[in-house]
Amino acid sequence: MARKLTKKDSEIDIVEWLRRLPKAELHLHLEGTIKPETLVELSRRHDDTPLTLDEAGMLYKYENFLGFLMSFKAVTERLQEPADYELITYNMIRELASQGVVHAEVYISFGIIYYWKKTDVEPYVEAIERGRERGERDFGTTVLWIIDAVRHFGVEEGARVFRKAAELRERYPSIVGIGIGGDEARGPADQFRELYREAKASGLRLTAHAGESVGAESIWSAINIGAERIGHALAAQHDTELIEVLALKQIPLEINITSNVKTGCCKAFDEHPVKDYFESGLMITLNSDDPPMFGSDLLGEYVLAQQRYGFTMEQMRELAANAVEASFLDPTRKLELLRRVERYL
Ligand SMILES: [Zn+2]
Repeated sequence: MARKLTKKDSEIDIVEWLRRLPKAELHLHLEGTIKPETLVELSRRHDDTPLTLDEAGMLYKYENFLGFLMSFKAVTERLQEPADYELITYNMIRELASQGVVHAEVYISFGIIYYWKKTDVEPYVEAIERGRERGERDFGTTVLWIIDAVRHFGVEEGARVFRKAAELRERYPSIVGIGIGGDEARGPADQFRELYREAKASGLRLTAHAGESVGAESIWSAINIGAERIGHALAAQHDTELIEVLALKQIPLEINITSNVKTGCCKAFDEHPVKDYFESGLMITLNSDDPPMFGSDLLGEYVLAQQRYGFTMEQMRELAANAVEASFLDPTRKLELLRRVERYL
């Protein structure tokens, strides 16, 4: 006898459909992917009295943006040796694969390594690459790296980060691009114009966080210095001319809904412009930023888009295709993944 499908069943089916939909993640910070279980493992390596899982979980709870920064610091300060980076990279790929993520482009903050550890980044990159190769082999999810400079550390620091990225790219082709993150108010994109030109000339692709915590002018600046993808672009909603340009040029936007609400950059889920952007014809992609910090992940963002913002299943497929299209993958892998998205039933 055929069983009647209850609402609960159909919801589960949709989540399962979204989980198996081949997804690409384009805005994820390696240092922001550490789950409490991994933190416990790091703590066993480095703390005299290792954290329990409950204690580790408490470190992810915060009340406001300052609290979020403190949380982030408490987690990342247990990243001490190259082997720690190998561990978090491998665990990140395992986690991505379990959500049906087939490809990810992940920010690595050289700035954190230079500034906090006062040491050369190369042993860390070597370890990250070991984690990536093992992860790709075991789980099939491909990963490319985007080297991120902390914009408010200044242009000189940015030059050091980007030139190192260009140098390491020769040996590690999985380093595909660069970006700027950090405090937009204290590090306007304009000042990185020359460095972006130089990075592009050395074959690196260009991204920038823009319009997350300040106004639309930051997004204009990012476009003007040649950013090929914009991270967040939350402030574009207040500038109709910018919306027109973004639509016309089909500049991919790396949208992070839960992150925007949890950091307070967007006041509430109901105020997030993701659906308006889509309906205005913008090239949007869904992403998770620092997932365990925000209690979300890429699958969660897809479920959120479908259930809260009313994207149809066909539109969900379009979002998945956008992310592959906007990736920096080589044409062969890109085509292979696009076909998988198109043929997915
Ligand atoms: Zn980010």
